[in-house]
Amino acid sequence: DAYVQAIEAANDVINAYVTVTGDKAREMAKASDTRIAEGKAGALEGIPLGIKDLFATRDVHTQACSGILNRFKPKYESTVTQNLWDDGAVMLGKLNMDEFAMGSSNETSHYGPVVNPWKASGSDQQLVPGGSSGGSAAAVAAHLCAGATATDTGGSIRQPAAFTGTVGIKPTYGRCSRWGVVAFASSLDQAGPIARDVRDAAILLRSMASTDAKDTTSVDIPVPNYEASLGQSLKGMRIGIPKEYRVDGMPDDVEKLWSQGVAWLKDAGAEIVDITLPHTKYALPAYYIVAPAEASSNLARYDGVRYGLRVDGKDIADMYEKTRAAGFGTEVKRRIMIGTYVLSAGYYDAYYLQAQKVRTLIKRDFELAFNDVDAILTPATPSSAFAIGDEALAADPVAMYLNDIFTVTVNMAGLPGLSVPAGLDAKGLPLGLQLIGRPFEESTLFKTAHVIE
Ligand code: GLN
Repeated sequence: DAYVQAIEAANDVINAYVTVTGDKAREMAKASDTRIAEGKAGALEGIPLGIKDLFATRDVHTQACSGILNRFKPKYESTVTQNLWDDGAVMLGKLNMDEFAMGSSNETSHYGPVVNPWKASGSDQQLVPGGSSGGSAAAVAAHLCAGATATDTGGSIRQPAAFTGTVGIKPTYGRCSRWGVVAFASSLDQAGPIARDVRDAAILLRSMASTDAKDTTSVDIPVPNYEASLGQSLKGMRIGIPKEYRVDGMPDDVEKLWSQGVAWLKDAGAEIVDITLPHTKYALPAYYIVAPAEASSNLARYDGVRYGLRVDGKDIADMYEKTRAAGFGTEVKRRIMIGTYVLSAGYYDAYYLQAQKVRTLIKRDFELAFNDVDAILTPATPSSAFAIGDEALAADPVAMYLNDIFTVTVNMAGLPGLSVPAGLDAKGLPLGLQLIGRPFEESTLFKTAHVIE
């Protein structure tokens, strides 16, 4: 009741929820009460969660915050959300996001931008919560849920977590099932939690993660008890600092925080090692070829026949065109154009194939680094949250893409990455540090982040 009331009171301003399922939440909470009374409580019994609009939820609007899926209700449940309900969690509703998870500010949503609950000191300017999981991050930061699901294709869990002072983890590719998660770029997409602290994130990920016969890329590795790693010593751990992440124009505050993070980890007994990840500078351009290529293919299914919106036309081709013209927003159309271009005959070798080769080199950089270190520490974002409607960013999509400079490498390599709030900048806004780990070593990230938070 308290959460549903809080949402009713604050959502007009924050716009974190696009669908509120108050009645369902109360019904699920009652069922939790019964299970608790019977001594059958699950790991998340009665915990109220918000669900990113990208996860299919049976008979509850699942729109990927796109006009083309307006009012779409699936007949099935995603594996990740089913895992949460099986552990007793309660659904408060569906959370706002960039359309089809394409964006870094939540401004591409068909349902309007999300307002970051944080403001710079002495300013009334509304700020973005980051994206694409902006609704998830803002809802957690504003106490409009106890935790949230999110997805990360190129930083969409970690960047919004950093902008809102919350914890977000993108687990290793294959750790969570993608079944029932609306596809953006299938070889990069991963689900993960956004939570108020490292412990909550550890508890939520344990519940979300599973092997799933319905997603052949999910892995058959037991899910550890991540919470058990919290409080363990960092003695003997080696933490790498990649010199390529010291980018030009990095604000002093970000640089200072990174040094502060190094000092904290040293104090906790870790050894700090300078490392090199030489192909880092190619990650962003390669990502913005691979992700749109996969997106253009995945989005071909929205044809006015199988899902959501249909705009009638004089024949079937005309209906397709009108439906897609009306249903997709500008950024999604841009991605489809880029994706079909880089996959087309004559350009495929120059762009897509080249980007895939670069991806292998990025992966190899990390493999070599992880021969020497146990985790890598970097800033999560190149800045703190920026203004809603920033004109320079709206006019230049590439400037917006630069937000992802520290996060996309992790998706390209399929590794786990965690963003932990580490301090405030001079404007009083939260900044995050990112920890990157070896495949399936999420526990290492949780234990290290716990020292920083
Ligand atoms: N900002 C990136 C993009 O727009 C990442 C999005 C994501 O991780 N879903 O593609």
